[in-house]
Amino acid sequence: MIPEKVFQQILALGEAWRVARMDYQENEQRVLIRVEETPELWSQESCPHCAAKTVRGYDHAPERRWRHLNVCQLQSEIVCALPRGECQSCRKIYTVRAPWEGRSRGLTQEFEAFALTLMREMPVKKAGEILGETDQKLWRALFAHVDAAWKELSWENVIWVGADEMNRKKGHNYLTVFVDLQAKRVLLAVEGKDAGVWERFAAELGNHNGHPRAITMVAIDMSPAYQKGVRENFGNAQIVFDKFHVVSQVVKAVDEVRRKEARADASARQQLERSSWLWRKNPETWTTTEGDRWTQLQDKPLVTGLAYAMRLELQKAYAATTVEQARNRFETWCLWVRTEAEALTSGLLAPMRQAADMVERHLEGILAHWQQGLTTAFMEGLNSLFSATKRKARGYRSTEYQTAMLYFVAGKLEIPYYA
Ligand SMILES: [Zn+2]
Repeated sequence: MIPEKVFQQILALGEAWRVARMDYQENEQRVLIRVEETPELWSQESCPHCAAKTVRGYDHAPERRWRHLNVCQLQSEIVCALPRGECQSCRKIYTVRAPWEGRSRGLTQEFEAFALTLMREMPVKKAGEILGETDQKLWRALFAHVDAAWKELSWENVIWVGADEMNRKKGHNYLTVFVDLQAKRVLLAVEGKDAGVWERFAAELGNHNGHPRAITMVAIDMSPAYQKGVRENFGNAQIVFDKFHVVSQVVKAVDEVRRKEARADASARQQLERSSWLWRKNPETWTTTEGDRWTQLQDKPLVTGLAYAMRLELQKAYAATTVEQARNRFETWCLWVRTEAEALTSGLLAPMRQAADMVERHLEGILAHWQQGLTTAFMEGLNSLFSATKRKARGYRSTEYQTAMLYFVAGKLEIPYYA
């Protein structure tokens, strides 16, 4: 069998197309697969304007190239001057679609599928290096597939939603990410972190067969903007302040106590400044060095140590099995923190006192955690999901790129997507 015939079969071109010639370009280490139509094409074509089956060959469009999978470590490209047909019924002239064309210009479907597989495993830049393509070209393919698949998503079963902020650090574009807590997938990312992002989400629900009234539970942090947005757009939803955000507020308060104490107590300053990580972690995740440091610190009564114990106690409240038990534990905790804060004339426990006030003010939403069947576990994993997304989109920090990568990584989309 001659090589052209072999390639015709590999490319699954069918009867309507044939490989006319293979050109090996030694200088470029590249194979050009020149493809042209056969007369059979016109018996298969129908007019894209009026659907009539009476199309005849008219002329050819300028030659184009499509990057294809490598052949024996040589880059390969399909080269074709696509035929233009004339409809005998409506007289319109159009360019025939290449059956091998992917969703983005200049790539074949097979190449796109392979590139997407690599992009799932590594940063886009790295995939570009391996494939010998610019990362811009790979991003274009990613955008095309993500957009097409995302538009087709149905959100009709979405009833429990979580929202969190990506890019909390200054100097980045804030993104609010909405997730389906049951299906454990990212639904939507919207620029901003104000109440308005909830209006956008409500509108987008409508575009995907969902409805704001169907949403019965929303898990968020305690930002007033989010609470306002939920109240205004999701009247049927119970607000849940998820464990991760409640605990991280208290962790922040402990850190404030530590910094205050380091400023106030010269003898403890060095120890406190060198141990900042210790207080942010749980004892079971301490390294040996951190454990040793803790033992040393225990010789000295520190207010930070007391604040830390308070935080661990709050975490324990989450082991409650019923909502009544949980209410009791949170109330006892608030009382304890307040009593200690008042007894301490130095005022070093003020941040903890504020944390207790915050817990008390948001208690109903915090207790909604014990609502039957609700799981906010997916919320806790969001931070690592966000870091993974940023890693893969390295060098591309704009909202557009981060959003596309988020959907690609965690949207559970069908990709590659060929409708
Ligand atoms: Zn026509």
